[in-house]
Amino acid sequence: MENLPVDDVLHRFLLEHAGVRGVLVRLGPAWREVAGRADYPPALHAMLGEALAASALLTGNIKLDGALSVELKSSGALRMLFAECTDHGRLRGLARWNEPLPEPLALNALPDASMAITIGNVERGQRYQGLVELQHASVAESLENYFIQSEQLPARILLAANDQHAVGLMLQKMPDEGGHHAAQDDDAWSRIVHITATLGAAELLDTAPEQLLYRLYHEESVRLFEPRSLAFGCSCSRERVTGMLRSLGRDEVEAALTARGDEIEVICEFCAQRYHFDRIDAEVLLNSSVAPAAPDTPQ
Ligand SMILES: [Zn+2]
Repeated sequence: MENLPVDDVLHRFLLEHAGVRGVLVRLGPAWREVAGRADYPPALHAMLGEALAASALLTGNIKLDGALSVELKSSGALRMLFAECTDHGRLRGLARWNEPLPEPLALNALPDASMAITIGNVERGQRYQGLVELQHASVAESLENYFIQSEQLPARILLAANDQHAVGLMLQKMPDEGGHHAAQDDDAWSRIVHITATLGAAELLDTAPEQLLYRLYHEESVRLFEPRSLAFGCSCSRERVTGMLRSLGRDEVEAALTARGDEIEVICEFCAQRYHFDRIDAEVLLNSSVAPAAPDTPQ
């Protein structure tokens, strides 16, 4: 039997008779890479893992050109959380916070909080942004509500993360098409939701994707599509850092050079890549007439 990947993988599937489509994402090494970049408090560690799994999950049923990001901002102790998945399945994420962080960490208790889903291609300026209402405590409930509102179709989203894995499961009722009986569809949907509700976080985290789908939905006909592989990856580049420095302007760049012994070092917070600029580099970038690049990393 073929060995299918069990980590860093996205599975799309169809519960054919029930008229339900789904996506299952299981992150292993990619999540550990993101989680290892900072000493996150437990509640934030879990929330970042859930958001990272969600960023991949949400790419499952759309035609993506560029990247999909989930970004949360607030004026409270959790200042910012960002998770992104590109059309090539490259994931990155980070969060910034102040101590003490409230536990449990509830989205609907954060002051001035906003959560946005951005889809598109930054280079080409083609972006779509949707705002997620934060009436619920968890990332999963908030996104589920967003989906129901934006697509007008029932959806279920489960997310979980621990030290080893970050997992997401999304189910959507497919639009009614000719030949379906609405009543039968509603029955099928509630049956699927009921079965899915029996799934605990531990089982979600510890079970290989295919095994999990067959265990849950063995009485339905599960059709699995070709899995997509995912990996940690960062889209930072010297060009983008150059654009960022140029947008700061001459005074700030010169001040940074003077303060740091005639060299500017920029370290990417996502991947720890270091970029160095000396006085000559700085002159070149400040004198070139290229328009500032769109901000890449959240500020
Ligand atoms: Zn980077």
